Amino acid sequence: MAKFPVEPFRIKVVEPIRQTSRAKREEILEQAGYNVFAVRAEDIYIDLLTDSGTAAMSDNQWAGVMLGDESYAGCRNFFSLEEAIKSITGFEYFVPTHQGRAAENILFSCTVEPGKSVPSNMHFDTTQANVLARGGDPVNLLAEVGLDPTSHAPFKGDIDLARLEAFIEQVGPENIPLGMLTVTNNAGGGQPVSMGNIRATGELLHKYDIPFFLDACRYAENAYFIKLRDPAYADTPVLEIAREMFSYADGCTMSAKKDALVNIGGFLALNDEGLFKRVRQELIIREGFPTYGGLAGRDLEAIARGLWEGLDERYLAYRLAHTKYLADRLLEGDIPILEPPGGHAVYIDVKRLLPHIPQSELPGQSLACEMYLEGGVRAVEIGSVAFAREDPETGEMVYPDLELVRMAIPRRVYTQAHLDYVAETCQRIYEKRDQLRGMRFTYAPKLLRHFTGRFEPV
Ligand SMILES: *Cc1c(COP(=O)(O)O)cnc(C)c1O
Repeated sequence: MAKFPVEPFRIKVVEPIRQTSRAKREEILEQAGYNVFAVRAEDIYIDLLTDSGTAAMSDNQWAGVMLGDESYAGCRNFFSLEEAIKSITGFEYFVPTHQGRAAENILFSCTVEPGKSVPSNMHFDTTQANVLARGGDPVNLLAEVGLDPTSHAPFKGDIDLARLEAFIEQVGPENIPLGMLTVTNNAGGGQPVSMGNIRATGELLHKYDIPFFLDACRYAENAYFIKLRDPAYADTPVLEIAREMFSYADGCTMSAKKDALVNIGGFLALNDEGLFKRVRQELIIREGFPTYGGLAGRDLEAIARGLWEGLDERYLAYRLAHTKYLADRLLEGDIPILEPPGGHAVYIDVKRLLPHIPQSELPGQSLACEMYLEGGVRAVEIGSVAFAREDPETGEMVYPDLELVRMAIPRRVYTQAHLDYVAETCQRIYEKRDQLRGMRFTYAPKLLRHFTGRFEPV
């Protein structure tokens, strides 16, 4: 039997959740156009849609909220945040943003022009969309092993350095305004990137004078994976590992809704003064004055405190073991998942679970719908709905290599019994998997199709 980690916290505030009947859920899902994003949260029992902004804040963070200084300029909470960001990342400059994608938008609007390429191990959906929105080309160069859902390699988020160099030579460094690594690799299963790969990516990009940015949403989980899996770092404090990761980069985008344990917020940090001045200008137009950047003072304080809490090693040990517990329960029931599990989520490998549904019939969407119908569990499709793209030359649909349904685990929110319930729901679906049918779009938006698309069963 899988072993559940003991929580390094106790519960002080509770929020009721409520179960509905299958008949009621069938009605709700049909009205929602078979898209769980369109279901009201109150009609969900266990919500694993995302780990983004869904964390339970600590008493210390809530206490910080009460110390919010809501002055327009120069509020004290900005300086708490500055201290945390500079101490952890080492970057010279930063701007707060209302969330991660705002940091991406501002970074790319200052760096990416039409026809330019941004290589990465794997862009997350909002990152990909923000590069495309600037007329740029988001290029994924994940190492081969990261695409093998059965490999137990320790660092399946690594970029393929040989392909990165070949790519730079092919398009020319002048056409690459920046390179990125997503740590951990969310779109590829929450897999960590090794320290060696981060260092080598920085060296390679710098050899061609290309700036290197981390998409650092889950940098603390990545750092703890390095501690667990790279013997050279077994005795290194996580804070030091994180600092070393950042030391190879020129900046980062961050969604504080992940490893900073808050419900809203983000930032863009960087070393280049010239770029910072342009970033600040954009920020003022889009987000707000540079000492609040689209957030209230209290939010800045909660992020500053959350950044430190997110690096607590007892918390991180629990966090990764908690996610692994759900993965182990599913594996015990022969449910195919991406292995080893990532830090923030367990991904069902839909190609292996539902081989009878072709990617053109959106098998991940079908599974996500069934999880809701069967148990009121909300998960998200990360496959053909989210990532298939029309080839601009041939007009044909290009389907992603991985067809996944992600169960993201909110931080410090669900107990062992909740995860057991999710595993049992998945088990019942597994027993009747042959009966699941494909889906088709009745409305397909151009970008980020999984958020607002509508569907019907085939
Ligand atoms: C969540 C996320 C983003 C975007 O952040 P938001 O706060 O949701 O805007 C970008 N990259 C990765 C890897 C993410 O997980």
